Amino acid sequence: MDDAVSKALQHTETTRVVEVGRGVLANSGRIINDLLVDEGKPGLLVADERTWQAAGAAVQESLRAAGAELVEPMVFPGTPTLYAAYEHAEEIRERLRGSGAVGVAIGSGTLNDLVKLASGELDQPYAVVGTAASMDGYTGFGAPMTRGGLKITMPCPAPRVVVFDLDVAAAAPAPMAASGYGDLSAKIPAGADWILADVVGVDPIEPLAWELVQGGVKEALSRPDELAAGVPEAYAGLCNGLVLSGLAMQVARGTRPASGAEHYFSHLWELDHLGAELDPPLSHGFKVAIGTLAMTAFYERFLVRDVAALDLDAVVSSWPSWDEVAADIAKTMSGPLIDKGLNETREKYVDAEGLRARLGRLVSTWPQTKQRLEAQLMPAKQLQRMLVAAGAPSRPEDIGLTPQAVQETFPRAMYYRSRYTVLDVAREIGWFGELVDEVFAPGGVWS
Ligand SMILES: [Zn+2]
Repeated sequence: MDDAVSKALQHTETTRVVEVGRGVLANSGRIINDLLVDEGKPGLLVADERTWQAAGAAVQESLRAAGAELVEPMVFPGTPTLYAAYEHAEEIRERLRGSGAVGVAIGSGTLNDLVKLASGELDQPYAVVGTAASMDGYTGFGAPMTRGGLKITMPCPAPRVVVFDLDVAAAAPAPMAASGYGDLSAKIPAGADWILADVVGVDPIEPLAWELVQGGVKEALSRPDELAAGVPEAYAGLCNGLVLSGLAMQVARGTRPASGAEHYFSHLWELDHLGAELDPPLSHGFKVAIGTLAMTAFYERFLVRDVAALDLDAVVSSWPSWDEVAADIAKTMSGPLIDKGLNETREKYVDAEGLRARLGRLVSTWPQTKQRLEAQLMPAKQLQRMLVAAGAPSRPEDIGLTPQAVQETFPRAMYYRSRYTVLDVAREIGWFGELVDEVFAPGGVWS
């Protein structure tokens, strides 16, 4: 087992066993049967036709060889792509209840989320066998779900057991690993956002969660062309990186270790139904890739400026009142997002003296803070080349957007969540609009 994974497992709330490696599918029966025996229940494998073919049949065979008791598996159609709709979670929950079984999800994002939620509602553990390195939700808690036409993240515990075979991940359709690569690349600007929140005293870094996510991320992102070529060895870093992200969220009991402002671009586009008509729909990781590149380019422009030379008196005297901020939110957001933006932004809003204290910490530590940020980040054009090599989107057009649409997402991403990011720092200093313009000016990643 990866050292970082075993370290994480000493601190996770829910996940007890993680097996990531080449050929681990052959041991999946023994590993999962331990859970079934502990619970004194049979297993119910839940797959779709594609994931059944990729891993389900082999897991069933391995479980039988281990002497496991199984009920009739649930196999959804392979096309159209299964949606994370609450009705499906209810269907799985009722099958689990009716058969008195423990769920074993065979799949990636959606199947894992459905079985996670169904099991959580029955207050029982579950296992997942990953079939693609497509996102970091395997080991996380909570399940994004469509319910009554709305997309919400429903609370539910992470899996007890995770099995992830690198050969299976490498054989999955190429866009899936490219998505996972996009999701993992987010940890670069997300880490920078956490550094800033730490420095100003809003959200202190938790060393273990930080190390789990950031310890191996650059290494894991370093072989994009081999991932695109389906070389199994290259999948170790990506798969472990994705698994560690979820474990770090369990350790920190929140999503801060794995996401920053780049994820809000993705969430907002998801709410706009971007690419929802495609089959399969535009993936989380593909939207995140563009958000990550946008934020990396923003950081690049931010770091050109000299924070140490800020005139704090001038900054504080031009700081808008809450009423002015609220008026801007009403102009920037639309529909139900106006209320959400108001509530979320209110949480991070401070008065003039609060602002002086907050930015004062940044000014007084700037040389060291700038060094930490530079060590954390990478040049936007380098990241762009890596995304291209991985087969992930690198231009707004690749996900059906214009550069202007990405530009307009910046202020919405700033108001969308209470999490403090570089977008807030820039807004508080008064640089926000200029920096966004600079990202899209000639010479930038998308000019
Ligand atoms: Zn993500």
